[in-house]
Amino acid sequence: MEVNYLCMCPSRAFPATRPCCGFRRRRSRVNLVRFRSVLVQVRTQRSEQLYQRALQHIAGGVNSPARSFDAVGGKHPIFMRRAQGAYFWDVDGNKYIDYLAAYGAIILGHAHPAVTEAIAKAAERGTVFGTPHEQEIAFVEQIKKAIPYLEKIRLVNSGTEAVMSAVRLARGVTRRNKIIKFAGCYHGHSDPMLLEAGSGPSQLNNAVSAGITPGVAQDVIVLPYNDPAALEQFLDELERLGGSGPDGDHDIAALLLEPIVGNFGLVEPRPGFLEAVHAAAAKLGALVIYDEVITAFRFRYGSAADALGFQPDITVLGKIIGGGLPIGAYGASAEIMDYVSPVGPVYQSGTFSGNPVSVAAGLACLQTLQEPGLYERLERFGKALADGLRESAARHGVAVQVNQRGGGVSIAFTEEPVYDVAAVDRSDKAMFARFFRRMLASGINLAPSVYEVLYVTAAHTEQDIEFTLNAIERVFATLHDGDD
Ligand code: PMP
Repeated sequence: MEVNYLCMCPSRAFPATRPCCGFRRRRSRVNLVRFRSVLVQVRTQRSEQLYQRALQHIAGGVNSPARSFDAVGGKHPIFMRRAQGAYFWDVDGNKYIDYLAAYGAIILGHAHPAVTEAIAKAAERGTVFGTPHEQEIAFVEQIKKAIPYLEKIRLVNSGTEAVMSAVRLARGVTRRNKIIKFAGCYHGHSDPMLLEAGSGPSQLNNAVSAGITPGVAQDVIVLPYNDPAALEQFLDELERLGGSGPDGDHDIAALLLEPIVGNFGLVEPRPGFLEAVHAAAAKLGALVIYDEVITAFRFRYGSAADALGFQPDITVLGKIIGGGLPIGAYGASAEIMDYVSPVGPVYQSGTFSGNPVSVAAGLACLQTLQEPGLYERLERFGKALADGLRESAARHGVAVQVNQRGGGVSIAFTEEPVYDVAAVDRSDKAMFARFFRRMLASGINLAPSVYEVLYVTAAHTEQDIEFTLNAIERVFATLHDGDD
């Protein structure tokens, strides 16, 4: 029998065939994962202790529900101690190749030198001014060069804030109240956005958070993603009730969506869907808001909208543009953005908005992303992982759907193609949980939910991909076996 050990010492890279540096001696409590031909031992005792401590002081033991291991049957999340490049080291000394990439916020890899240097220099000059400063202009200019139809931008502190502000702006511009959103898209945790959201909220019963007032819910219309016929049917119904033209009494301010979804796996719009969304908006006299918190600068240096050949009225940004620090942004034509206070009547503010440290990190990240060949490499590695997942699955008779674009890859255990959140809801989640746990035990850190995406970063190497493909093959070979 082949025996693999996840070495406890940071000097050893990945599961080794021999233990080193007193691993055996220091081992006190070990999670034993028995595979048909592989034995992987991962000690997570310190993580477990920290989780017990966290549970006493932090709501649910985590500062974001997506971090809990509830959906993947883990007893406790893994507490990380350090991240560098493509790797994590946990508090028990285990090393992992990281594909969580902070839910997509990290694209250059952890602690990229250009970014950390920019952060350190900015911090020395002061972390928050509460006044305008020059670098926030340079940063926004940099974004505008990549997404030219954003004539003006406002910086905020998170994707949630940016979506919330963009929705308010759309309502202010159109003087209407209702928003159409699409089932499974996640747009942060402002009240209206928590209706039928993907990502974390999909774990809730009925996918609706408690605490949302009926008044809020009544202003949100949820339609299925990738379903132009459903949109058409909805417009017909509106027509019957009071008109679906720009002067009808439909009260619809905007259609909001992820142009490529990253919150029920990675799902691209099917031909005709975005056309239908834009046509509906034109008919209703409503605005189109693209939430590009995940997609902007993800697959190319710029927006997904540009890659897909569309131009929304309002664009929401976040994650990557902050270089790993908290940020969000929304932008549009000057005409629309001039509705924002202090020029216009739509109020939005923020103590930390445009703070020098996030802006410096973001600027360094965007500059580094322009390195020739970077996106091509992400695509190559993403494709290698997707192909490897499909091939291993086929070899071992496991039904999977693997979606991939650039460095983004998602996997759902189902026979049916994944075009909408319902397909992920119907997939074999117990199988995903097993896959997740066994990958983790093999030294691969994925997001602990089938609704999330695995992200290759610029820091991943050929060897990392090779190692991951080997782990995938080993894990798939045992996936039909009972639980660990
Ligand atoms: N929009 C999308 C598309 C997202 O994926 C997320 C976060 N996953 C958000 C908005 C919210 O961003 P944040 O977590 O920074 O508030």
